[in-house]
Amino acid sequence: MGTKKSAQLLRKASRIIPGGVNSPVRAFKAVGGSPLFIKKALGSRIYDADGNVYIDYIGSWGPMILGHAHPKVMAAIKKAADRGISYGAPTELEITLAEETLKAFPSMDMVRFVSSGTEATMSAIRLARAYTRRDNILKFDGCYHGHADSLLVKAGSGAATFGVPDSPGVPAALARHTFNAVYNDLDSVKKILEKNAVACVIVEGAPGNMGVVTPKPGFLSGLSRLCKRYGALLIMDEVMSGFRLCYGGAQKVYGVTPDITCLGKVIGGGMPVGGFGGRRKIMEMLSPSGPVYQAGTLSGNPLAMTAGIETLSLLQRKGTYEKLIKTTTTLCNGIREIAKRRSVACRVNQAGSMFTVFFTDRDVANYDDAKTADRARFSRYFTRMLKAGIYLPPSQFEAVFVGLAHGKDDVARTLDAVDRSFTRL
Ligand SMILES: *Cc1c(COP(=O)(O)O)cnc(C)c1O
Repeated sequence: MGTKKSAQLLRKASRIIPGGVNSPVRAFKAVGGSPLFIKKALGSRIYDADGNVYIDYIGSWGPMILGHAHPKVMAAIKKAADRGISYGAPTELEITLAEETLKAFPSMDMVRFVSSGTEATMSAIRLARAYTRRDNILKFDGCYHGHADSLLVKAGSGAATFGVPDSPGVPAALARHTFNAVYNDLDSVKKILEKNAVACVIVEGAPGNMGVVTPKPGFLSGLSRLCKRYGALLIMDEVMSGFRLCYGGAQKVYGVTPDITCLGKVIGGGMPVGGFGGRRKIMEMLSPSGPVYQAGTLSGNPLAMTAGIETLSLLQRKGTYEKLIKTTTTLCNGIREIAKRRSVACRVNQAGSMFTVFFTDRDVANYDDAKTADRARFSRYFTRMLKAGIYLPPSQFEAVFVGLAHGKDDVARTLDAVDRSFTRL
């Protein structure tokens, strides 16, 4: 199995694109080796420039929950493309996707669409600051909310992978307004809220960006109570979890009602879509109905809306999430069983259709726990899996994404590869 062409393309790309990639984690820096350059993807399979085929567990970092190039989504996009691909004017498609979104998330009365998760969280924070007339925000160590300045303080995902908790270029004066608490630790939140006027607490629905970590019973509802008591808005960033845990996200699973919800990834079905929404009184502060400015040349793009509408409609078919969660649970249990048999210390955390294998003997409930994972061991695991034709996220601090296209055969092949790669790991 060669990777000659991919290596060649990386050299070429690196001369004209920083690091050769347009988003850092793609570069395989955390695991070594050269990233695969992709030619195409169909169903559960992804094909690289060298002609290798892999079972794909990245799924474009979550959006491809139906599998790649789903025929119904493809047909809808192609039909939409024949009517022109961008108008910079409102369309009925935006109403359709907004209606579907509000149906899935009863905490929202209104929603505004943007083109990425970053735009959604960035705008949600601006709105919360305007609504509360406060400047400070609170986030959790290891949670990632996109790359807006205020949110790049002790962030997860790529920022965690590279150990750059605070990105250069973020003004210290701005970073001072971002407080960090410990995930699953309400006391750490209370201490900050008691002493500081905080506009909003932003939290991932079920964190996936320090690897998958699940909220302890009572954590999210406790957070909601603390926010109310101290006059802060609760922003649930469900960009990853929104249509992953169930149709309706972590807020439905855990029974919490956030003030603002952020969406992305699955809602665009692989096209650039993000969204944020909440109570009418908050949302009506947005321009042009209110004074808080927010805009986007390509926001609500008709092709992107079409992909989102079609994806959400397919996800609502009966049994969808049962199947997703069953496949994911089979993988997780299988890996736990192999780890025991091969004496590999690890913790497998699952949230709906995503999971992470942490190479540590400590339960992982927050970022400090996650950081105890043996990253060298993860790199060996990743490399062996890739050689066996399994394409995993190239970092210990990311989630594996399971989709509807992953069949029994994929699961069996994956567990077989895990078994072999855990030998003398
Ligand atoms: C991916 C992600 C984002 C950022 O979305 P982009 O589309 O990459 O800008 C924000 N929050 C969470 C929880 C995410 O997983």
